Amino acid sequence: MNGMRGVRAHPVPEGIDPDDWTSWSWQMQNRVRSADELARWVDPSPDEIAAIETLSDRFHFVITPYYASLMRRDDPECPLRRQVVPRSVEAGDPAGLADPLEEVLHSPVKNVIRVYPDRIAFCVNNECALYCRFCLRKRMVGDLEWTMKKRELGEALDWIAATPEIRDVLLTGGDPLSYSDARLEWILERLRAIPHVDIIRLGTRLPVTLPYRVTDELCELLARYHPVWVNTHFNHPAELTTAAAEACDRLLRAGIPVGNQSVLLRGINDDPETMKELCETLVRMRVRPYYVYQAQLLEGTAHFRTPIEDGIELFRGLRGRTSGFAIPQYVLDTPFGKVPLDHPWAQGRDGEDFVVEAWTGDLWREPNPRR
Ligand SMILES: *Cc1c(COP(=O)(O)O)cnc(C)c1O
Ligand code: SF4
Repeated sequence: MNGMRGVRAHPVPEGIDPDDWTSWSWQMQNRVRSADELARWVDPSPDEIAAIETLSDRFHFVITPYYASLMRRDDPECPLRRQVVPRSVEAGDPAGLADPLEEVLHSPVKNVIRVYPDRIAFCVNNECALYCRFCLRKRMVGDLEWTMKKRELGEALDWIAATPEIRDVLLTGGDPLSYSDARLEWILERLRAIPHVDIIRLGTRLPVTLPYRVTDELCELLARYHPVWVNTHFNHPAELTTAAAEACDRLLRAGIPVGNQSVLLRGINDDPETMKELCETLVRMRVRPYYVYQAQLLEGTAHFRTPIEDGIELFRGLRGRTSGFAIPQYVLDTPFGKVPLDHPWAQGRDGEDFVVEAWTGDLWREPNPRR
C-alpha cells in the first residue's frame, strides 16, 4: 500500500521491536491508560491532564500505541487526539443522554437491539481497542457489568434461532474483533447454523485503531462463514495509513466487502475538503463510504455536534464533485431506525413535469406521466 495517494506511511516508532509493534496482543497489552503514558506520544495540555484525571472513571480512557503514534505531538486540536483524549468540556453537556436511541427499550433479549423487523444489532461484547469520546454505546463499553458471558451470548443466539424474520445479523459491541479468533468462531459457527440467518455483518473499528488485528488467519476464518460483510469506522484522512489500508485489503481479498461508517464530528471532519479527502481515499482503498451519522445527543459530546443544516449542505456539496459511490449517506439514527438526512433533490410535480435540482443548482423539468 506504500505510495497509494492519500494513504500515509507510518514508520515503527524508534526503540520498539517491529514484531512487537505489529502484534495485536502486544498493542493491547501496551495500551495508554494515563496522562504519563500519553506523554510518550504527545505533550498533553493542562486541560487534557485534568480531564483524564476527573473524567476517565465516567468513561474509559484507553488508546492503542498504534493510534497514539498517529496523533500530532504538539497540537491538542489534532483530529485524532480529539476523538480519544478526554477534555474538560465533556463535563458540561446538560442535554446529553446515556441512551438517546432507547436501545435498552429495544432489546428483546439482553444485548440484542431490534428496531427493524428483519435485522438486528447484536452487541457481542463491550470491549474496544480504544474508547472514542463520542461513542454511542458509552453507557456500556468498557464496563464490566456488561461483559457478555457465554451463557448470555447463548441466550441471544437462541432468541435469533427462534425468530425466523431475522435474516441479517450485525455483530457489534464494543468491538467483535476484540475477541480472540476462537471466541469469534464460536459465535459465527452458531449463527451460520441458523438457517434463516442470511447475512452476517461485523461492525468494527479495529482496522482503524489496531489494524494488526486483521491477520490472514482472521480473514480465512471469516471467509468460512460467507456472506460476511464488514463495516469499519474511519473518521479522518489521518487515520488512513498503510497498515489500515493493508488491513482493509486483506479483508477484501478474502471476499469480504468493506464499508465505512463515520460520525460527523465538529471541527474534525465537518468541512468539505476533509470529508472529500476521506471518502476519495477510502474509495482508492476500495472501501465504500456507507453512512455518516449525525452525532447523537449523548452525554458529554455537545462539542462534537454539528448543526444538521450544515451537514446537509456538506453532503450536497459532494454530489457532482466526486464519484457517486464516494458519497456516503448522511443519516440520523433514531429509536425508530436510521433516517436519511439528504438534501431534497426532488422538488416534486409541477403540472405535467417533475422538477428536480441538479448538483449545479440548475432546475430540470422532466415530463412525468400521470398515475
Ligand atoms: C444500523 C442498524 C442496523 C443496520 O441498518 P442498515 O441500514 O441495514 O445498515 C440494524 N439494527 C440496528 C439496531 C441498527 O442500529
Ligand atoms: S470503537 Fe466503536 S464501540 Fe468502541 S468506543 Fe469507539 S465508537 Fe464506541
